[in-house]
Amino acid sequence: MPVCRLELYCANILNRSWVIDMHTHVQFAERFPRRNLARRHLNLHLSLPRWGNARIDIPALRAAGVNAMVASIYAMEFPFLPAHLHFENALADLRAIERLTRCYADDLVLVRSGGDLDAARQSGRVGLIVALEGAHALGSDIARLETLHESGLRSLQPAHWLHNACVKANWSWWGRGQPLMEFGREVVKRANELGILLDVAHMSSRALRDVFELADGPVICSHAGARALCNAKRNLFDEEIRALAATGGVLGMTFYPFYLRRFSPLATLGRMVEHIDHVVQLVGPEHVGLGSDYNGAPAIICGLRDYRGLPEFVERLLARGYRPEDIAGILGGNFRRAFVKTCGKPHHCPPPQTRVESRWEALCDECPQSPC
Ligand SMILES: [Zn+2]
Ligand SMILES: [Zn+2]
Repeated sequence: MPVCRLELYCANILNRSWVIDMHTHVQFAERFPRRNLARRHLNLHLSLPRWGNARIDIPALRAAGVNAMVASIYAMEFPFLPAHLHFENALADLRAIERLTRCYADDLVLVRSGGDLDAARQSGRVGLIVALEGAHALGSDIARLETLHESGLRSLQPAHWLHNACVKANWSWWGRGQPLMEFGREVVKRANELGILLDVAHMSSRALRDVFELADGPVICSHAGARALCNAKRNLFDEEIRALAATGGVLGMTFYPFYLRRFSPLATLGRMVEHIDHVVQLVGPEHVGLGSDYNGAPAIICGLRDYRGLPEFVERLLARGYRPEDIAGILGGNFRRAFVKTCGKPHHCPPPQTRVESRWEALCDECPQSPC
């Protein structure tokens, strides 16, 4: 296929698909000096200090036709900090997400249900789904989960780096074999009742099994890779991927190089596609998604340093023989299925809208054999 036709074909797949990123910290975008979401940023692909690492901007979202992303509340984990201060910290982060939707009301909108997701796409805006990364913000008070849910929380990832009342930290030798704690079980059950999508990222194998048993709907793992290809503690073993898929869940493939190739900051897009291939061979393409951790991960793979890399990602999957409908699922359709099942049905199914920007349209005019 001529280069311009291939580019158009990839852009068309992006246009027609749901494109949803399962894990970001978009609200960090304006915490850095001279940064704002509206301006295009130059992103270097190698590690930068965490606080200078904003990768999301509205021009990039528009260029790639992103429909929605999970905006994960990141309440800083300080050992010995009282739980109510962790909770205040989480609320402040939630307010930062809401402030973005007010400041950029033409581009961003909060999403609380499948209906909201469809409405966001129809209005040409990017939907933000609020999630919580780390249950330390809850302390051991279930009412805090209810308050966050009322404020828009729709996904909960109980584990993060340090111990909390739900689960022990996965990286520590004494936390690895620990089950979900009593408060963790209560949180999972309440999340089921409230319609909050459970996320097992950062969780140990033992606790993860408990979540699979207790959950009564899809369980996701928003940002991880395949342990069979990279033996990092944050990645899932094959049997865990099968159990996740059995719930109807989705594994959001990580963009973090060290979870794709051990001890290598130079993992490429090709390596990420190898991880996707592995998961697809285990459980099929309908259980894979994208979990960039943009604005959170201190390093991102070459080729996907921001959303402008998505057309090349689509091209790689096509070259591997993936069908456009499988690619559409990986780009966001699979996550949307799990989200709608947990957080409410769409009001109706909107027709696909062309949103990818003029670069592709210009190509379309120039190319007499345009597939559009
Ligand atoms: Zn994380
Ligand atoms: Zn994160």
